[in-house]
Amino acid sequence: MPQPPQTPHGDQLYEGKAKILYATDDPQVLLTYFKDDATAFNAQKKGTIAQKGQINCAFSTHLFKLMAAQGIPTHWIDTPTEREMRVKAVTIVPLEVVVRNLAAGSLCRQTGLALGTPLNPPLVEFYYKNDDLGDPLLTLDRIRALDLASSDTVHQLQQMATHINQLLMQFFDECGITLVDFKLEFGTDSGGQLILADEMSPDTCRLWNQAESDPQKRVMDKDRFRQDLGNVETAYQHVLDRILAHSV
Ligand code: C5P
Repeated sequence: MPQPPQTPHGDQLYEGKAKILYATDDPQVLLTYFKDDATAFNAQKKGTIAQKGQINCAFSTHLFKLMAAQGIPTHWIDTPTEREMRVKAVTIVPLEVVVRNLAAGSLCRQTGLALGTPLNPPLVEFYYKNDDLGDPLLTLDRIRALDLASSDTVHQLQQMATHINQLLMQFFDECGITLVDFKLEFGTDSGGQLILADEMSPDTCRLWNQAESDPQKRVMDKDRFRQDLGNVETAYQHVLDRILAHSV
């Protein structure tokens, strides 16, 4: 069981696979608590990764600061303790936006593309944020048919995701890390502006150590847990140390 948050908070609003969301006394502000729990393959595989909560909280904090410094609006406000982040309350867009620079994961499984095939231009894909349906891949027509987002919002999401990818690819490259792919979530704030939300961490990105050519040793992300590659905690700590050494 996770320890309760140390920061004063209100009711628990939602418990997800990796985080718990609490109200605060300000309706515009929520408190996110990062857990050590890990799941994969739509929660068919479950476990814990020691210290993952702290690592993902620090990782997300660093990358949200990087994004803010580059003019990308995010929900991050501050990080009062090691596992807690205060964020702006947003209405989450029910789409998971995945950007892919190299083929991996579900793209390889579903298309037969070889692992590591360069994707130029990068793919920007939309998945339906719906656990019961297993987060299926969407088409633009399906987004419209389900009325999940307006075409203007979809266009904005594509542009923001592409810009974020350019910033992240360059940042990780400076850290000696290849950004293979990642997932983003967005929300609309009280003023109706689209802002980057959720988390950015080794749970939600594929990251390969450029100093390693071995396809298993190079993995610095949740694929170590998904594929039982071992040394999960060490890899998460290593990748955090690498990015923290590069100030934003
Ligand atoms: O599984 P798939 O290959 O489609 O994942 C693409 C990227 O999106 C990976 O970096 C994965 O960690 C991330 N992802 C995620 N949450 C999901 C699905 C994918 O963070 N529900």
